[in-house]
Amino acid sequence: MPSTIAGNWKMNGTLAGADAYAAAMIAAKPAASLIICPPFPLLARFAAAFASTPIALGAQDCHARPSGAYTGDVSAVLLREVGASHVILGHSERRAGYGETNATVAAKVEAALAAGLIPIVCVGETEAERDASEAEDVVKTQLRHSLPAGFQGLVAYEPVWAIGTGRTPSEADVTAMHAAIRAALTAQFPVTGTATPILYGGSVKPENAASLLTLPEVGGALVGGASLKAADFLAIAAAAPSV
Ligand code: PEP
Repeated sequence: MPSTIAGNWKMNGTLAGADAYAAAMIAAKPAASLIICPPFPLLARFAAAFASTPIALGAQDCHARPSGAYTGDVSAVLLREVGASHVILGHSERRAGYGETNATVAAKVEAALAAGLIPIVCVGETEAERDASEAEDVVKTQLRHSLPAGFQGLVAYEPVWAIGTGRTPSEADVTAMHAAIRAALTAQFPVTGTATPILYGGSVKPENAASLLTLPEVGGALVGGASLKAADFLAIAAAAPSV
């Protein structure tokens, strides 16, 4: 399976910038599977640009309900309709900034699956939890309670302290955590858990992509800051192993 390289634009981007970015992605024809996750208003624009390409689109969140009086929120159903195939759920910025619990994330995952979206569920420990040797327990608890029965999708291991900081865990720590996540997924989902892609996220850049992406059980990357520049995102995709 080719690596999956997902770009989380967060609250960045403009219409003009999106057009130039889409043109660069289409011209490059990368071997890796790309998923671009822009802010909601850019989804339809990207969907039109990528219509006849394998480049996929993801949203950065969705609501757990299909419709209703939820000012400011967007349903999974509408995201699917405007061209998203994926949705990032449980990102640490939403867990920390919007009080999303594992139960909230699980409800959103269920809504995404019901709408035909593929969830990319983020898990990861804080620096204090790693310092207290609790990282694996924290991540296993997040997996147990954020992934509902019947889960199918991707998991992204994103140590909170590595997001946007320029710091990454050691190769040994990434390897150990991805092995622990694989074991937990296989125990929780005996049929699908062996094949669920596990992405690494947290300060992935063109300079460190090759070493991170070739570690065992690393099925790709979730890239924040470095996904905003087409050249950097494509360099990360080019560093991914092709099988
Ligand atoms: C992210 O926000 O998911 C992320 C990994 O950010 P960055 O690559 O900037 O650390």
